[in-house]
Amino acid sequence: MSDKERIPAIEGGDPVRKEKIDYGRQWINDDDVKEVSKTLLSDFITCGPKVEELEHKLESYTGAKFASVCSNGTAALHLACAAAGVGPGDEVITTPLTFMASANCALYCGATPVFADVDINTYNIDPKSIREKITDKTKAVVAVDYTGQCCDFDEIRKICDEHKLVLIEDAAHSIGSAYNGKVVSGKVGSYADLTCFSFHPVKTITGGEGGAVLTNNEEYARKVKLLRSHGIVRNHGEFIDECDENLEGIWYYEQQMLGFNYRMTDFQAALLCSQMNRLDFFVSRRKEIVARYNEAFKDLDGLIVQQEIPESDTSRHLYVIRLDLKKLKCTRKQFFDAMSAENVQCQVHYVPVYWMPVYHKMRHQKGECPVAEEVYSGIMSIPLYPKLTDSDVEDVIKAVTKLVNYYHV
Ligand SMILES: *Cc1c(COP(=O)(O)O)cnc(C)c1O
Repeated sequence: MSDKERIPAIEGGDPVRKEKIDYGRQWINDDDVKEVSKTLLSDFITCGPKVEELEHKLESYTGAKFASVCSNGTAALHLACAAAGVGPGDEVITTPLTFMASANCALYCGATPVFADVDINTYNIDPKSIREKITDKTKAVVAVDYTGQCCDFDEIRKICDEHKLVLIEDAAHSIGSAYNGKVVSGKVGSYADLTCFSFHPVKTITGGEGGAVLTNNEEYARKVKLLRSHGIVRNHGEFIDECDENLEGIWYYEQQMLGFNYRMTDFQAALLCSQMNRLDFFVSRRKEIVARYNEAFKDLDGLIVQQEIPESDTSRHLYVIRLDLKKLKCTRKQFFDAMSAENVQCQVHYVPVYWMPVYHKMRHQKGECPVAEEVYSGIMSIPLYPKLTDSDVEDVIKAVTKLVNYYHV
């Protein structure tokens, strides 16, 4: 290997490739565009048949009894907490290694987020830490399937049942994954009390924006649908108050709860229906790329690969590498910048939620979850999306390998 190839681009060598690769991106094809155009020119561009079609598709894909789509994943989490009855005085346990929406949803309901630490090998919320954080105020657990790998749901389900907690799964990363355990099993969306998806463009399928709440509980589903549209009921048969049918006609509606406008448009639903047709393909392509990365990195000294639990059949949303910083003479920031200079754009998921000023003010402090902070200090997400070609994948591997070898002590 020549020096030009061996030396990182950031130190004056040649980059592994000329064009930049992003860490994640959507894949929109002609069918998607056709479906969206058709809906735009139809009678309904919101609250129409495509929203219902998408909900049925999600129900049959996941096996959940009820799917309710909404404007984004954050709204889905808020709706799930609200439907579960999370309110002032309650505590909601979640992981700090997540997008802040997983904790903010408790705050939206006037409840207090509590952070449990993660497992050092899987980076998912650690059931032992959940147990330690339970108090008599705990109402729910928001378990995040970090990178798409299912949490330890056999154990988490047991804990929730013992303490009568609502199990909410933040499945923003994990549509297409499944859990095959002793207590819990099935596709993601089918087993938690409430499961939330996000359809942001970096996620596995996209509506531009979008989210969904899945549940097998009819009462939760009814509340989610009510709350996503102002808490308004139009069917006179469902009214709480008396309504004088001689004076009030079909225009009359009743607001039964303080809801929101978290609706999804029909053209977003049309895009998502079309994307759902390719979900199995997206999942299998992601699995192929992950298998290639796992193979390439398994013996690369200086790098730690995220461990998988056998119960999780994972559709990976993110591929996270962790630098073994004791073995490298660079910082995570230097490595990250060096990857950019190779034209491989990485991202870091995530800065611990309680490090944010909003959470400082609630007396959270650095050091609260030491394992999550340890994991955070070494991680970055390398590119992973179905549209990556095999040669893109090899370039990413080359860049990682080159830098790990160069910076190895
Ligand atoms: C993306 C994401 C969300 C929020 O979804 P939006 O659709 O962007 O609102 C919530 N939790 C996790 C873990 C996410 O990755």
